[in-house]
Amino acid sequence: MIPVFDLKDQYNTIKDEVNEAVARVLESGWFILGKEVEAFEEEFAAYCGLSHGIGVGSGTEALHLALLACGVGPGDEVITVPHTAVATVAAIELTGAQPVFVDIDPASYTIVPDQLESRITARTRAIVPVHLYGQAAALDPILEIAQRYGLTVVEDCAQAHGAKYRGRRVGSLGPVACFSFYPTKNLGAYGDGGMVVTDDGSLAQKVRLLRQYGWEKRYVSSLKGLNSRLDELQAAILRVKLKHLDEWNKARRTRARLYDELLAGSGVAIPTEMDYGRHVYHLYVVRCPHRAHRDELKSYLVEHGVGTAIHYPVPIHLQEAYRDLGYRQGDFPVTEACADEILSLPMYPELREDEVRETSELVKAYNSEQGEYNEQEN
Ligand SMILES: *Cc1c(COP(=O)(O)O)cnc(C)c1O
Repeated sequence: MIPVFDLKDQYNTIKDEVNEAVARVLESGWFILGKEVEAFEEEFAAYCGLSHGIGVGSGTEALHLALLACGVGPGDEVITVPHTAVATVAAIELTGAQPVFVDIDPASYTIVPDQLESRITARTRAIVPVHLYGQAAALDPILEIAQRYGLTVVEDCAQAHGAKYRGRRVGSLGPVACFSFYPTKNLGAYGDGGMVVTDDGSLAQKVRLLRQYGWEKRYVSSLKGLNSRLDELQAAILRVKLKHLDEWNKARRTRARLYDELLAGSGVAIPTEMDYGRHVYHLYVVRCPHRAHRDELKSYLVEHGVGTAIHYPVPIHLQEAYRDLGYRQGDFPVTEACADEILSLPMYPELREDEVRETSELVKAYNSEQGEYNEQEN
């Protein structure tokens, strides 16, 4: 069986370092907001080319707290895409603001800057571009529009640790950015975790207060906050893993290039790496000609021992929970078509070359069987 991702193989490659880090925390007797979190905040912010990092409980909470710190709240509107993890939209709603959607570009799967302006109203406060699947959104035009309208930009970097836009790491281009350390992300903890990164010292201070009851000092709140803290164990593990992030992203890219080569002419479209950036292939997502093809290919791969997934099968504007936003089928045609046609193939740094070959052969074999079947029909 080739799984769509695997976390055990990676642990085996760093076992001694991780176990040592975990033991260090357990023996210290200090578990919340201590030296490990502080060190990791510094190290990860520096990795992004920034001066402040605030470790929080998850990627969702990083977005929630960053938006709160930017002053987003009830009555405001925040623009994002309907083709993303539901967490992006959940975080906007947690602030009391209303999510407003813009469709995605079919090549990059990220927000179309040209459609942004038509969605801006007097209530718009922020834009949340999502660097989906490991690829940066078109940040320059987004930041230009935001500046022109006085909006803030909160980058959702949950799938794009180390990805670049015009030579710079994502998270460092806008005023504030958010990462998730969910286990399967390019930099993943062994539990939940997230971080807000910024160069703005006062914004950083605000997030720092908000993540712990608004405490200015212990037991004294100067803001209405909540509890969202990265813990020492996760921070110690993430410090070990951060040292390997570039090498793991490189391994992902090597596997992506091999898929690209082997899947040429296979009947599915391979992902496009935009010329403005460096993709880190959190996911390797192919696109089928139509829904039945995708669903049958998925079953075919499972029957032959290859795991796949769909990121994401139901656009957020069509989900039950978000019906109150008032959108309908047909509102975001690119997003809706993608949801029917995309398929994520196995992708993780430890995936072996022969497994990429086997998966690609199966995709091709399915396609040629389809071709024969169609000929018989005719
Ligand atoms: C994973 C993810 C999140 C949320 O992160 P959690 O740590 O799971 O809360 C937000 N946005 C995107 C695009 C994600 O992929």
